[in-house]
Amino acid sequence: MERDERRRAELAANLLGVRERIARACEAAGRPADSVTLTAVTKTYPASDVVLLAGLGVTDVGENKDQEAAAKAAQAHAAGARLRWHFVGQLQRNKAKSVVSYADVVESVDSERLAVALGRAAQEREVPLDVLIQISLDGDPARGGVVENDLWRVSDTVTSSDGLRLAGVMAVAPLGWDPDRAFERLALLAGRMSDRYPGATTVSAGMSGDLEAAVRHGATHVRIGTSLLGMRNSLR
Ligand SMILES: *Cc1c(COP(=O)(O)O)cnc(C)c1O
Repeated sequence: MERDERRRAELAANLLGVRERIARACEAAGRPADSVTLTAVTKTYPASDVVLLAGLGVTDVGENKDQEAAAKAAQAHAAGARLRWHFVGQLQRNKAKSVVSYADVVESVDSERLAVALGRAAQEREVPLDVLIQISLDGDPARGGVVENDLWRVSDTVTSSDGLRLAGVMAVAPLGWDPDRAFERLALLAGRMSDRYPGATTVSAGMSGDLEAAVRHGATHVRIGTSLLGMRNSLR
């Protein structure tokens, strides 16, 4: 109990700090503070943390492994937490059915085959699954993401599926890149995306180390793990 209280206080302080960073970045960019949604990336942390964050006002959480996310979403839901679940990791097609059962958004769609699998799995949903196309900004798809040449092909596959709604784009700044350069490039592609598909206005960009640059370049969602929950033991 006491440990729970201490963790709650720690998360509350971290959350305040992250919200202040977002607010300052918005102000510097001349954007309203509520134009950026915080997604708490809770991977490797327990469902109890998700429940505490929900109690502190967090509305959106992100996970990158299906098994872990499925269990955590069920536990958090059982504890009464009502959240929007974002899947942000590389996804195997054989996990589509599982992910579609708890996720509200899949941010990491990067192939036609994955879009088709998700669309098929999402057909029985009451609400379409929101999908972001993950873009590989350096053209190296090794860490996930479509290269620019494939962007419209994958996007069209998403929009042709009844179970899916194309909501926008997601990217991670490539290792070693200046985040401003990365997110400026993302903003350009996001602009083309929303011109072509008027509902696709979400720009998910920015993590603990580079959220300011992401907000400067129009991010509507930032995905924050470390600054909220602490250092992870593993690299993921
Ligand atoms: C882990 C992860 C994050 C959060 O990263 P932090 O640096 O811990 O804030 C954001 N996006 C994706 C895709 C991730 O895998």
